[in-house]
Amino acid sequence: MRIDLKELRAYPGRPVRSEGLEVLDDLVWCDEPLPLVGAVRVVASAFYDEKRVFVTLRVSGTGVRRCSRCLLEFEEEFDREELIEVNLEDPNAPYVELRPWIAAGVRLAVSSRPLCRADCRGLCARCGADLNVEEHREGCGEIAPALDPRLEKLREFL
Ligand SMILES: [Zn+2]
Ligand SMILES: [Zn+2]
Repeated sequence: MRIDLKELRAYPGRPVRSEGLEVLDDLVWCDEPLPLVGAVRVVASAFYDEKRVFVTLRVSGTGVRRCSRCLLEFEEEFDREELIEVNLEDPNAPYVELRPWIAAGVRLAVSSRPLCRADCRGLCARCGADLNVEEHREGCGEIAPALDPRLEKLREFL
């Protein structure tokens, strides 16, 4: 998605809003591919000021993530807004290409420790059992912790 600078230059300081979809099919997040479901929705409000363009950029969409506890794939929605400042190297540039900013915004928008659900119990580090759907496997030796309510409360923050 691009921001046309002709209109912005004509009225410095006056924001111009634009909307669009950006398809990012080669996104990488922490050395891993980050596939998205459909395109990223982009809303940009930009104004021009002395060879700089200020853009309030909002990105939203859905990513395919892997749960950091149980490794299940699930879809995570994201929505993030930030103010960016673009310095124009060429003062006569006809437009600003937003694609790299959109990609950066999506990387920051997705959670760093994705969870399929807030109370995901994850995989047992010893026997590999998916504790969301099964008990510890035979011989695991990992004893299910006694349900101390204080501990349970703590776990929500982990
Ligand atoms: Zn999970
Ligand atoms: Zn186990």
